[in-house]
Amino acid sequence: MRIVDLRSDTVTLPTEEMRDAMRSAELGDDVFREDPTINRLQDISAELMGKEAALLVSSGTMGNLVCVLTHCERGEEVIIGDKSHMFLNECGSMSAVGGVHPHTVLNQPDGTIRLEDIKAAIRGDNDHWPRTRLICLENTHNRCYGAPLQPEYVASVCEMAHERGLPVHLDGARIFNAVVALDVDVKDLVRHVDSVSFCLSKGLSAPVGSVVCGTREFIAEARRNRKLLGGGMRQAGIVAAPGIVALGKMVKRLADDHENARRLAEGIAGISGLLIDPDKVYTNIVYFEIENGRIGADELVARLADKGIRTLSTGPRRFRMVTHYGVGSDDIEQTLKALKSIMEQEV
Ligand SMILES: *Cc1c(COP(=O)(O)O)cnc(C)c1O
Repeated sequence: MRIVDLRSDTVTLPTEEMRDAMRSAELGDDVFREDPTINRLQDISAELMGKEAALLVSSGTMGNLVCVLTHCERGEEVIIGDKSHMFLNECGSMSAVGGVHPHTVLNQPDGTIRLEDIKAAIRGDNDHWPRTRLICLENTHNRCYGAPLQPEYVASVCEMAHERGLPVHLDGARIFNAVVALDVDVKDLVRHVDSVSFCLSKGLSAPVGSVVCGTREFIAEARRNRKLLGGGMRQAGIVAAPGIVALGKMVKRLADDHENARRLAEGIAGISGLLIDPDKVYTNIVYFEIENGRIGADELVARLADKGIRTLSTGPRRFRMVTHYGVGSDDIEQTLKALKSIMEQEV
């Protein structure tokens, strides 16, 4: 039976070209900055993002934490969306490791945070209060339907923050999905942010790795924090080599994932017992719900698994499906057929 894995775009396997690149990568000790392949990935990344310097890290979670540690001292505060990955899905690392206090503000359904909500969250000077030190955004926004943030919105947050002497960090785990959805240059999405992290290991299909970009000075300090976290990786050129292929070859095809997500959503909209807002499908992430009184999410997960479809529930009746390089249009048809037959039995 063919398995269709819609749990996440992290399940993507490296391409043949990536495996070849790993095999032939020139290597050295990256803690001595002597791995030519890592140096090349970092140069390519910095150039692509329009930043001075870049640093390879082992995961998106490490990239975000390294940036928070570089921006903030213990006891300082980060303004962050209440549905952000950094707040919900990174083990509370900023407080657990950094002693940094997250101050959550409401994420709108499109992944933005209202400018007035951010302004209201910025602390004044008071002996009782933590000091606001950083503002974080997420693009595309995982929990908010994979919505891309517009360049103008990111610029407006940065302008407001910079007027107040605050830097902005962007969790750009899926920044290239935003690039493809909005048809913009990635530089337009990150121009004003002070640091950005992006994943090589999601839709871009590299096996491991994320990259952090910022000023030369920022990245020098980030390198120390990466070392502190145990992330100095020696001959990790074998990780960087497929990352170079990912950036060069795997960005444009994200459009296929977006097209498949749209077809999946349109199919789901036609299945009785399933609820979806097709206007809230922006990139490669599809959220839908089971109508009240029908089967529970865990049961639907199990019944889909019997039909070779792997999925995750994100609530008692809520689902997320993610399209990626390992999912073709036939797989979308198979998934819709399976959903339809399960839901028809439930009528
Ligand atoms: C996946 C993800 C991360 C972290 O990535 P890992 O490499 O799994 O640690 C960070 N932010 C967002 C929005 C993500 O979706």
